[in-house]
Amino acid sequence: MFPATFEYHRAHSVKDALALLKRFGQDAKLLSGGHSLLPMMKLRLAQPAHLIDIGAVGELAQIAEEGGKVVIGAGVTHQQIADSALVRGKLQALAEAAAQIGDVQVRNRGTLGGSLAHADPAADYPAAVLALEGEVKLEGAQGTRTVKAQDFFVDLLTTAMNPDEILRQVSFSPIAVGTGCAYLKRPQPASGFALVGVAALVSLGRDGSCEKVRVGVTGLGSKAFRAAGVESALAGKKPEANAIAAAAAHAADGIDCLSDIHASADFRAELARVYTRRAIEKALERCAR
Ligand SMILES: Cc1cc2nc3c(=O)[nH]c(=O)nc-3n(C[C@H](O)[C@H](O)[C@H](O)COP(=O)(O)OP(=O)(O)OC[C@H]3O[C@@H](n4cnc5c(N)ncnc54)[C@H](O)[C@@H]3O)c2cc1C
Repeated sequence: MFPATFEYHRAHSVKDALALLKRFGQDAKLLSGGHSLLPMMKLRLAQPAHLIDIGAVGELAQIAEEGGKVVIGAGVTHQQIADSALVRGKLQALAEAAAQIGDVQVRNRGTLGGSLAHADPAADYPAAVLALEGEVKLEGAQGTRTVKAQDFFVDLLTTAMNPDEILRQVSFSPIAVGTGCAYLKRPQPASGFALVGVAALVSLGRDGSCEKVRVGVTGLGSKAFRAAGVESALAGKKPEANAIAAAAAHAADGIDCLSDIHASADFRAELARVYTRRAIEKALERCAR
């Protein structure tokens, strides 16, 4: 399969990429790892006349600690995130999501920014970015703005980004003492995409009850989402098995569950409940450390 003809441009900086985006407008697409865009182009689901390659833009490829936050550039690959001691230590659920994406080749080419911008409903990162309350920094001709993860995923393959914007980085508060997080998924056996994936973050208060609960779910509906019903059902409760199971039972509440040849809506909903319970249990195991 071959994509339609396009013109290739290599950007050397974010400024360069933004200038090219401005010049070619709606006819242009940014190219990062190419592991979502190129398949779309080969299927002729996307036919950009201009590709702006940001793969060599060094300023997008850093993982750093800045002002008490962990900041990950849009061009950082899945493998770099999975291997990063900083991410593994301070944002374990994100490292776990990265490590479970596709195969070695996909992880070595695909990037955080590309995955979030593409907003595949079965992508792994969105669940972790939601549970860890990441903040997405966007830059465009009008300047920069920051969008909370909860507001970033709008619908199937649709985000809060404008076409003239570039996703620059995602920043996170590192998880605090007494807090644990985890990402678990049931992969579709051929592609590795999530039939359902759940990231959970739990903080225990001084009295041993669940002070803060955050749950991000992917694969279940047209976009990844925070499972508000689970979070409110467990907050303030002691982390006992029946309370966790009762909270996890709300994982699919209000969601129009996807149904396809890989899994029915009912099966996906049940997976969501089971994986939510397991992800919360795993996060709780890690609170003690
Ligand atoms: C065989 C296979 C298996 C896979 N399995 C999984 C899996 O298990 N889990 C999973 O989550 N994903 C999976 N993927 C998808 C993979 O993770 C992609 O790498 C990722 O979705 C897109 O990242 P990319 O860097 O390749 O982006 P690209 O394909 O280059 O771009 C994707 C989209 O994002 C836009 N874009 C890219 N970077 C930016 C930016 N900085 N700012 C604004 N827009 C930008 C592009 O214009 C394009 O529209 C798989 C892909 C393949 C081919």
